[in-house]
Amino acid sequence: NKITIAIDGFSSTGKSTIAKLLAKKYNYVYVDTGAMYRAVSLYAKVNKFVGNDFLNKEELVNSLRNVSIKFKFNEVLGFAEVYLNNENVEKEIRTLEVSQLVSKVAAISEVRKKLVAEQQQMGKNGGVVMDGRDIGTVVFPDAELKLFMTASADKRATRRYKELIDRGDKVNYKDILFNVQERDRIDSTREDSPLLKADDAIEFDNSDMGINEQFERICSLVDK
Ligand code: C5P
Repeated sequence: NKITIAIDGFSSTGKSTIAKLLAKKYNYVYVDTGAMYRAVSLYAKVNKFVGNDFLNKEELVNSLRNVSIKFKFNEVLGFAEVYLNNENVEKEIRTLEVSQLVSKVAAISEVRKKLVAEQQQMGKNGGVVMDGRDIGTVVFPDAELKLFMTASADKRATRRYKELIDRGDKVNYKDILFNVQERDRIDSTREDSPLLKADDAIEFDNSDMGINEQFERICSLVDK
C-alpha cells in the first residue's frame, strides 16, 4: 500500500537526504521540487530575466511555456537528475549563484502554478516522496505522512558549505549562511504559498540528531 510522503522545511535541513533514503528503502519515486525551481531560475538567469539586482517578471512569465523540466533516473547515482530543455543541469542548479536568485523566482505565482501542476501529475499515483516548501500545504494537502524539518541556521549553513566545497566550488561560509537565512526569510514571507508547517506535519529538528536515528524514526512512521 503505497502512500504519499511530503517533506517540507527550511533550506539545507537534510530533506533531500531523508527523501532519497526513503525512496530507496520503499522503492518510491523521489521528486526534488527545489530542483525544479532552481532549473527555472537557471533558465531565467541564462536568458537575463533575473540577476542580483533585477527581475523581469513579465518576460519570464511569458517564456515559461518554453521551459521543460524532466527528471531522469541515473542508475549510478541512484537518484533522478534534473533536465532543463533536455540538458542535464544537475550540477549547474546547485551553485551559490542560482541559490541567490531562486527565492525571487519561486515567489512568482505563475512559476508556482506551472510547477505545482507538474508535481501533482508526477505524484498522482502515490508511492512518492516529495520534498520542498509547500508539499504538505499546497501540492499534496492530503498526503498520508507529512514531515517538517528544521535545524539551527549554523548547522544548515555548515552542511551546505561542506557540500559546495566538496564539489570544488569556491565559496565562503559567511555568504552561505547569509543565503540560507535570506532564502528562508523570502520563502516564509512571500504571498503565494509561503513556507509553513502544515497543521498535521510532524516536526523534526535535526540540529543535534544524526541522520540514521532520524531515518529510523521516520521509517517507523511510514510502517505504521
Ligand atoms: O530545496 P531547495 O533548497 O533546493 O529549494 C530551492 C528554493 O526553491 C527554495 O529556497 C525556495 O525558494 C524554492 N522552493 C519553493 N517551493 C518548493 C521547493 C523549493 O518555493 N516546493
